[in-house]
Amino acid sequence: MFRIGQGYDVHQLREGLPMWLCGLQIESPVGFVAHSDGDVAIHALCDALLGALALGDIGHLFPDTSDEFAGIDSKILLSRVVSLLRGHGWNVANVDITIALQAPKIANYVEAMRETLAGVMGVDVSLVSVKATTTERLGFVGRGEGCEVWAVAMLEK
Ligand code: MG
Repeated sequence: MFRIGQGYDVHQLREGLPMWLCGLQIESPVGFVAHSDGDVAIHALCDALLGALALGDIGHLFPDTSDEFAGIDSKILLSRVVSLLRGHGWNVANVDITIALQAPKIANYVEAMRETLAGVMGVDVSLVSVKATTTERLGFVGRGEGCEVWAVAMLEK
């Protein structure tokens, strides 16, 4: 049996804040405005995993009004989501993430991002795809105002 889910998230960029993407801190003069560590890629991935089982979204599971999640490492949220789906008897078949960010360039981080996410989810790195693109300077991503991420997750049991 297979289930598929998709996730989407956007975070605003601001100077002087840390930038976390796929569990790694990225060297960058700008970072994400957020209640958690702002890892917009992990948030989209969590929503894809939850969406596959129609379990709602991370905003519902980990409310940004809760002090428990203030500044939290999003890898913890991802590991909780994966535990939840394993508890329902499902495993991650594969995930695919597309990050739209104008700057900085993150191509050199992609392999480490895949390894990090695979480690947190307890799956082989071959099941984890991370892709990065700019938007050719178009739109809010192109103006450097934010980062947009899409994720797809396939589950199996
Ligand atoms: Mg988010």
